[in-house]
Amino acid sequence: MSLAWSSRWVTLFVVFLLVVPAQAVARTFAPVSLKPGALNEVYAWDDQEFPVFQVELTRGSTVLALSSSLIWPHESPWKISVAFLAFDVLTKPGPARLRFLNAQGKELAKQEVEVTPRVLPVEHIALDRQMSTLRAVPDPRKDKEAQQIWRIYQTLNKTNLWATGRFELPVTGIPYSASFGDERVYDYSDGTTASDYHRGTDFAAPVGTPVYAPAAGLVVLAAERMLTGNTVVIEHAPGLYSDYFHLSKLEVKLGDRVKAGDLLGLSGKTGLVTGPHLHWELRYQGVPVDALDLVTEGLLDTERVNTLISSIERKRG
Ligand SMILES: [Zn+2]
Repeated sequence: MSLAWSSRWVTLFVVFLLVVPAQAVARTFAPVSLKPGALNEVYAWDDQEFPVFQVELTRGSTVLALSSSLIWPHESPWKISVAFLAFDVLTKPGPARLRFLNAQGKELAKQEVEVTPRVLPVEHIALDRQMSTLRAVPDPRKDKEAQQIWRIYQTLNKTNLWATGRFELPVTGIPYSASFGDERVYDYSDGTTASDYHRGTDFAAPVGTPVYAPAAGLVVLAAERMLTGNTVVIEHAPGLYSDYFHLSKLEVKLGDRVKAGDLLGLSGKTGLVTGPHLHWELRYQGVPVDALDLVTEGLLDTERVNTLISSIERKRG
């Protein structure tokens, strides 16, 4: 092989190295057990660049959840991308498989995880004739409003990360009256029943109780609706929305930016209710998740995640 010929190959090889982007190092973390009806956070990190990834949770051939990462701007030695995994609260406990994929769908890492069991207490709710009609009888307005709120839940504005850290409760000093995930049997006035589960947390708030934003966000809905009464929906992060139902008065309007502690409205008993209360709900890509997790654990808690990553890096040596 002549020197000129081989040097041409060396040149080509060097050009190849320059052109083909370096494969992002897949340093990933996911908890070994994942909670149904919760905002499970999984991370990938690098000290060079933000790793872009998709994460897929499967059981057999069923995809339980599929999410894309978002870049999380924060003060940290690492460049951390995060994805939220939320799947239905009624998912049966047991083993499942988690896969991290790059933008081209190539597997970066995988791990076996356990879906934790959830205890779902059963609650009977007796509805009078008016409320039975409101819940059970089809109405085009209900359909239209359901489609509208579903469109909001499905909207993922990649750059709209308004809030991180711990959420506050939307009311102060008010006891809970129903938990997230409670199994519900509605007893209609004609003797028939319907089963469902509770998608939010209820507070036994008397009419007129101030309701505050639990964290920063953008008001994406402030309107009167048939089933949920006077309603506020806030976007907190890409795909993450909180809802406030049955209000007596709205104190914000569409497009308002809010910070934690801002007044959203006054609690009430509008829409489908059996008495005054505040219904607080959190959705990620449409999946209802337990809002109280964000009060106790917080959303993208920088300190918690940095401690976790530092301990993993130390173990790697
Ligand atoms: Zn409720």
